[in-house]
This record gives sequence, C-alpha cells and structure tokens, in this order.
Amino acid sequence: METFAPVTIDQRASSRVAAGHPWVFANEIKGDLKVFKPGQAVSVQDGRGRPFGYGFINPRSLIAVRLLSSREIAFDGDFFAEKLLAADAFRKRFRPGAKSYRVCFGESDGVPGLVVDRFDDVFVVQSHAAGIDTRTDAVVAGLKKAFSPKGVLLKYDSSSRTLEGLENRIEVADGDVPHTLSVEMEGSTFVLDLRAGQKTGFFHDQAANRERFSSLVRGASVLDVFSYVGAWSLAAMKGGAASALGIDSSADAVAWATRNAEASGVGAKVRFEKADAFDKLAALESGKDRFDAVVLDPPAFVKSRKQLDQGMRGYREVNRRGFALVKPGGLLVTSSCSRHVGREGFVGMLQGAAADAHRTARVVAFGQQGADHPIHLDLPETGYLTTVFLEVR
Ligand code: SAH
Repeated sequence: METFAPVTIDQRASSRVAAGHPWVFANEIKGDLKVFKPGQAVSVQDGRGRPFGYGFINPRSLIAVRLLSSREIAFDGDFFAEKLLAADAFRKRFRPGAKSYRVCFGESDGVPGLVVDRFDDVFVVQSHAAGIDTRTDAVVAGLKKAFSPKGVLLKYDSSSRTLEGLENRIEVADGDVPHTLSVEMEGSTFVLDLRAGQKTGFFHDQAANRERFSSLVRGASVLDVFSYVGAWSLAAMKGGAASALGIDSSADAVAWATRNAEASGVGAKVRFEKADAFDKLAALESGKDRFDAVVLDPPAFVKSRKQLDQGMRGYREVNRRGFALVKPGGLLVTSSCSRHVGREGFVGMLQGAAADAHRTARVVAFGQQGADHPIHLDLPETGYLTTVFLEVR
C-alpha cells in the first residue's frame, strides 16, 4: 500500500476541496513544500488533522496537490483501470459508437494530469503532472487491464510539462504502435503519425462541430485555414462539398492532409498548401476568389493571460480576413481553443472583425469541445474550445 504523507492545507482550500475541487495551490499549504518529492502520494488534511483527500504533490508546481480520491487507496494498475473504465463508460453513453475518441480528460475524469486518446486499439497517453509521470507503469497496467490495447504510446511532450518541471519523452510503453496508423474516423480515412503529430496526433475535440459543418456544405467551395491533418476539409467532402483548399504552415501537416484526402478517395477535390495563414489570407483577400464556407481553426493564440491583448489582435486579424473571404450568404466556422478566451470575449472580437470587414453576420450555432472532453463544473478552465457557426452577409 502506498504511504500517504500528510499535508495540511488552509481553510479556504479545505472548503473548496470538500466541495469537489481537485487542486490545492502551493500558497495554500502549511509548512515547507521542499520536503516532498515530485509525484509523492499525499493525504490532505485540514487544521484539525482530519484527512479528507488523497492525491499526489509536486513541490515545483503552482498546482501543488492534485487529488484523485476521497478515500485512502493505492494508485496502482487496478485503480487506474477502474478510473479509465468509468471514463470510458461516460464516452459510451455520450459518444455512442465511436471507436476513436478521448478516453480520459484529466481532471474532468477524476484523474488529474492524465490524458488518453484512443485510435481504435492504439492508445496515446499524455501526462501533465509529476504524479502521473512517476506512476506511468500503473497507468499502462490500468490501460492493459481495461482495454487490452494493441499498443500504448507515451507522448510526454506537452508545453505545460515545463511548469511541472518534467522532462519530455516519447516512447512506446506497450505492444506495437505503427509509425503510420490508418484509422477510420468521422467518416474518412486518416493515416496518422502519432509520434510526430501534434499533441496526441489528432484533435478529437472538434468531432461534433465537424459533423455539423459536414451537414451545411453540400456543393460548397471550402477554405480550411490551419488545416493540420485535413479533418475539416474531409468533413466537408463527406458532406458533399465541391472543393476544399487547406492552408497550414507545417510541411508535415500538408503532407499528412494530402495523404488523408487520397486515402479517403477525395484527393482530386482537395488541395493543401504550405503557407503562413496570415500571409495567405491577405493574398487571397487581394485576389478574386471567394468561398462558400471558411473554416478558421487556429492554435491557441492566447496561451497565458499575459498574451491576451496580442492574441486577441491575432484572432481579430484572422477573422476579419475570414469574413472578407466568405461569399454573401456563406458560412464562417471559427474557433478558439484558448482557455483564457471565453465565449463572450470571442463573440466580442467577432463583432469587431465583422465590422472591420464591412460584413454583417448571424450566429447559426455555438459549438464547444465534444462530450469526450467534458467540462469539470468546478474547473471552468477545463472548458477551452469555442466554435461559432455564422452566416455571413
Ligand atoms: N484544424 C485542425 C487542427 C488545427 S491545429 C484539425 O481540426 O485537426 C493548428 C494548426 O495550425 C497546426 O497544424 C499548425 O501547424 C498550424 N499553424 C500554426 N500557426 C500557423 C500559421 N501562422 N499559419 C498557418 N498554419 C499555422
């Protein structure tokens, strides 16, 4: 049995944790944090010495303690198997029939710091916390018990790891993970390079939004900006779009997207181009081509609060050009995956961008991250994706 080192936390943190919040910040802990090892198991207790939460600590992180359980239980393979099966049951309920999806979304699934995506029988694991890193063997044992995977890839390279003082690594932890994996998802064929790809290799979070998009683009000419592996373009093709042009600054992404269009049998109608989005949008704007539908799905422009002003200027420029490139009566589908930009802020930016472009627009629908990325009610920061569907005049 794991031994839990006691940690005393202040009154404010105690009431928050008692109400279901899974974090204790460094400044809420009484005593010296340096006595703890990164990832060490701890029990948190209030001023009266009553333990009421179990998790792990990282003295290097601002989020010092992440809680996994309200009772004393070993964080072993059986523990993770049970958590992962519960998380998977939620997906089976809210994303029935899917074979590739996010199995575990960290805090939202009661396993802080652990993200798992699956692509059929291949699983990709991300860790954002020292306590997950040090328990990687148990996580992999849990995955094996719960799902009998064909292969498990550790993708320990997210930027948030530096905040936790963690080293990056990418390696196969179990079984076989092919260098190129062909997966049927969202009605198309994707050939993914999970090791070299961004994040876990694919963005499952937009699946439901792409499905909606697919239903709105019959016969359309589509511009897909920040196209990565081409998922929006392929969704457009599935919905009977006439053509799609994808833009991405990564040569790899363009090559992968091209391969995916070919594998999905729509290579003749889809083209991907390596270009900086800002430059390419400006060039298109000064040309004559206009599109029935424009998709803007950029990386997070606001990665921290400090970047808010600069990031919002980036969104405004991209969206102004996006509005300008839509034919009258056409569709703009625009996203922000910046957790510091809420729906209100994003819509405010869109008002400015439309005005700059001398266009008017009506919101047809709001989208958010799919149900396999549920939002923890007490942790609004787990909700990060806003997608807006607009009809543009
Ligand atoms: N739309 C994709 C996900 C986009 S991820 C999907 O649904 O799967 C963001 C993409 O933007 C990445 O592929 C990255 O290479 C690309 N990117 C980042 N900065 C860019 C820029 N300035 N111009 C063009 N592409 C950029």
